[in-house]
Amino acid sequence: MRATKAIIHLENLRHNIRLVRRHIGPDKRICMAVKADAYGHGVHRVVQVALSEGVEYFAIATVQEGIDIRTEGVDAPILLLSLPLPEEVPEVIRYGLTPLVTDRLFLQVLEEAAAAQGRRIEVHLKVDTGMGRIGCTPQEALELAAATSASRWLRLAGVCTHFPVADLPDNPFTTAQIRRFAAVVDAIRVQGIDPGLIHAANSGAVLGYPASHFDMVRPGILLYGYYPSQEQPRSLSFLPVMELESRIVFLKRVPKGTPISYGMTYHAERETTIATIPIGYGDGYSRLLSGRGEVLVRGRRYPIVGRICMDQLMVDLGSDSPAELYDRVTLFGPDPEGPDAERIATLIGTIPYEVTCDINKRVPRLYTDREEKPRPTAFPTAPPD
Ligand SMILES: *Cc1c(COP(=O)(O)O)cnc(C)c1O
Repeated sequence: MRATKAIIHLENLRHNIRLVRRHIGPDKRICMAVKADAYGHGVHRVVQVALSEGVEYFAIATVQEGIDIRTEGVDAPILLLSLPLPEEVPEVIRYGLTPLVTDRLFLQVLEEAAAAQGRRIEVHLKVDTGMGRIGCTPQEALELAAATSASRWLRLAGVCTHFPVADLPDNPFTTAQIRRFAAVVDAIRVQGIDPGLIHAANSGAVLGYPASHFDMVRPGILLYGYYPSQEQPRSLSFLPVMELESRIVFLKRVPKGTPISYGMTYHAERETTIATIPIGYGDGYSRLLSGRGEVLVRGRRYPIVGRICMDQLMVDLGSDSPAELYDRVTLFGPDPEGPDAERIATLIGTIPYEVTCDINKRVPRLYTDREEKPRPTAFPTAPPD
């Protein structure tokens, strides 16, 4: 196997699920967001571990993502968070995915496709209380809920909404959304309609807005070990699940002034040792980290120098590094000595979500499932099996 790999620490995923469970209490369900291949971690193993930890619902974005999970033998409800095209709806029904109802027109598309297959399907009503993305207005919700529950082919199994700024603590907009959403749910109940599972909370709301927990929460990023934003108090210790690592494949001593990589944007400032690592933007490790990123070798951080190439990057080890050829190099992960995906996100102006999602298919995923803390900082030279 090539030097560059993503080690997926399933024991950290278990830890994060248990932390969320303890935080929300035993009577709430967890719907785990596993879209985009479980935020880049590999959906199949993530779903299996989540099921074994009592997660009851999964949320994905595309019909194909839902099919991929269903055909692995997962019986749990799979919520389709994004809207499919009408021509994709027959597959939604065939694979027993749970779509969102957002308007009359789409309700009709769902109904006709369900009728055509003679299958009654579960749907969730999506109310837009302020995200501005998809969903009906709070004013339309009651009528749509009534139309759904009156349908022979649809069963209203849930009502949900989504928050744009739940990652900001004590934000009045989020509080107002929760109130608006609760009023919609009440109005549905008052009409004698069973709204099914009420859910709203993404990771930010799970942490900061207990009133948003309702029957079920929908965290993603927290379960992969990161806070949704810098603003949140770090009250719980989530552990990063993905560890991106590689090895040193070339070492050289260079004199002061030696140019390094494309564009020759960097010249050695003194005599130093330069290591070449076989990872680049072709693996989804952002080129924006050129001259900014850092890596961990033998418990120490070293800067990336010169431009990151498609398949390789260079690191300045300085003059006194104990690093040797074929040493393990950590690009990001749970080791507190080294960078994590949040640190990388900060360096290049994005969010940890994008950092883990971007690690692409060229990087093999290796799974560990030890019920223990992440590896100590002094790395052994040999990679894990
Ligand atoms: C992705 C997503 C979530 C999970 O968001 P996190 O910030 O990762 O917790 C929840 N709900 C919806 C609708 C989403 O699209």
